[in-house]
Amino acid sequence: MSQEAPGRLETVRLFVNSVDVEAETEELSSPEALAAWIAAHDLGEAPTATEDDLRHAMALREALRELLLAQHEGHEAHPAAAPTMEEAARRARLEVRFGPDGAAAGAPAAEGVDAALGRLLAIVADAQAEGTWSRMKACPWETCRWAFYDHSKNRSGVWCDMAVCGNRAKARAYRERQTRTRRPA
Ligand SMILES: [Zn+2]
Repeated sequence: MSQEAPGRLETVRLFVNSVDVEAETEELSSPEALAAWIAAHDLGEAPTATEDDLRHAMALREALRELLLAQHEGHEAHPAAAPTMEEAARRARLEVRFGPDGAAAGAPAAEGVDAALGRLLAIVADAQAEGTWSRMKACPWETCRWAFYDHSKNRSGVWCDMAVCGNRAKARAYRERQTRTRRPA
């Protein structure tokens, strides 16, 4: 099943997955790589990025991942996640702009990387208003953490891929059952 999120929300998913935790591949390997990523994903023109910008981007990425993990029952986001998101919104100087038709949209007054990260936050806010956000999740398998869009009918999807992390979870549950039955009474 596709993991792709609808519309602009897909950009947020790709941003969270710009590091593959398991394969240890990092797309944002330098400030220049961050600038190129921003331009390639329509979050603004390639800005001049600094090491600080890179640090902010990575912090926001992990805060987003925490929020996506918290979409699963029994999971809570790290307490630093929401403040990290708010700090990014402050740096972006997110404003609400109104179109001629009265349509409201979040837009950054800042420039450069801060603005690009602010645009990601505006997409998150829109997705929450539209009701698509609740389907955005991160795989709870410890070494995976991949972001995916849950297309299942009843929004019950847990694993990024049943064939990979779903099977890992099943195998672990099986091992745990075996250990329990083998344990002497
Ligand atoms: Zn997974």
